[in-house]
Amino acid sequence: MIPFNIPYKPKEFINEFKKIKNCFGNDGKYTKLSEDFLSKKYNSKKVILTHSCTGALEICSLLLNLQKDDEIILPSFTFVSVANAFALRNAKLKFLDVEKNTLNLKYDDIKNSATKKTKAIIIVHYAGYSEEIDKISKFAKKNNITLIEDCAHSIFTKFNGKLLGTFGDLSTLSFHETKNIHCGTGGALIINNKKYIEKAEIISNKGTDRHLFNKKKVLKYNWVNLGSSYKINEINSTFLYYCIKDFKKIKKARLNLWNFYYQSLKFLDRKNLIYLPKYNFKRNENSTHMFYFLVKPKVRKSLLKHLNKYKIGATFHYLPLCISPFYRKKNRFYNKVSITSSKELIRLPIYYDLKKEEQKYVIEKIIEFFNK
Ligand SMILES: *Cc1c(COP(=O)(O)O)cnc(C)c1O
Repeated sequence: MIPFNIPYKPKEFINEFKKIKNCFGNDGKYTKLSEDFLSKKYNSKKVILTHSCTGALEICSLLLNLQKDDEIILPSFTFVSVANAFALRNAKLKFLDVEKNTLNLKYDDIKNSATKKTKAIIIVHYAGYSEEIDKISKFAKKNNITLIEDCAHSIFTKFNGKLLGTFGDLSTLSFHETKNIHCGTGGALIINNKKYIEKAEIISNKGTDRHLFNKKKVLKYNWVNLGSSYKINEINSTFLYYCIKDFKKIKKARLNLWNFYYQSLKFLDRKNLIYLPKYNFKRNENSTHMFYFLVKPKVRKSLLKHLNKYKIGATFHYLPLCISPFYRKKNRFYNKVSITSSKELIRLPIYYDLKKEEQKYVIEKIIEFFNK
């Protein structure tokens, strides 16, 4: 079986873990080391490790202090947590469609749908690619709208020489086991706008001023705002620290795999049998998070069946949120590209431990399918 994903296991973690005396709480040595590493990397004023990217998005939502009728702009073709975090605070969700070439939001669509009520724009760099983040960031600043980048697919990936995650007021990372860098479950909030730092510390610490207590600035800690238990635990951040340290090695392996898929399958794109994303790698670095292509829905069904029969864990992706059972009752959005792409998309296995022989086998089975 070639599964869709095998999470990376850093060797050093196993050795280190035996020596650790106390790794069961929050805010220990490895949480600090990882947060410092990320702050430096992102040139950010503050990074908070969280139990998940979902948690980091929920902190963002609480930071916005949303009032009735406040609107959030977000893509329809994305992970449920992106919408849930803001729906939990009763925001009005404005789902926009993605464009076909890269499955990202377009600047013009964002500009045209923003109103005086728009509180935040959530950009998800799908498959690690960014369409027009520079323009979007300028637009958000000019109109006093908070920009949030969900960088779950785009860790350590540059756009025009600048890291994705540094454009937004707030950015989130995911360290879920399916992501390039992981610790089973985990995430991070990157704070670029310093007006959010103090409040984010409080929200992530169960709504208390415990961060001041830790610094011995207050004698007891109090409930001072809404909040929850959003912090990562120390076992996970220990694992994470060693994964982050291996990042270059992981990225190199993933890039080789990505390029080999691309080189081997692009003739099918030329023959219009599959549709590969159309990226501009001169501007946007390859995050290597995902290798996907589109095929007609009927073809997708039989191709997935074919690959799964040969024990290849190829899979689909997001079901559009605008027509989800939970949301469609509340409002009507019909995001056409999101809906069609969702029926056409296939993701192939890509992970550090995927062997060249296994990858060749995957490619061979895809070509065999189209030769039939
Ligand atoms: C994986 C993912 C999330 C959620 O990450 P968790 O860490 O599992 O909460 C959010 N947004 C996007 C775009 C994702 O891919």
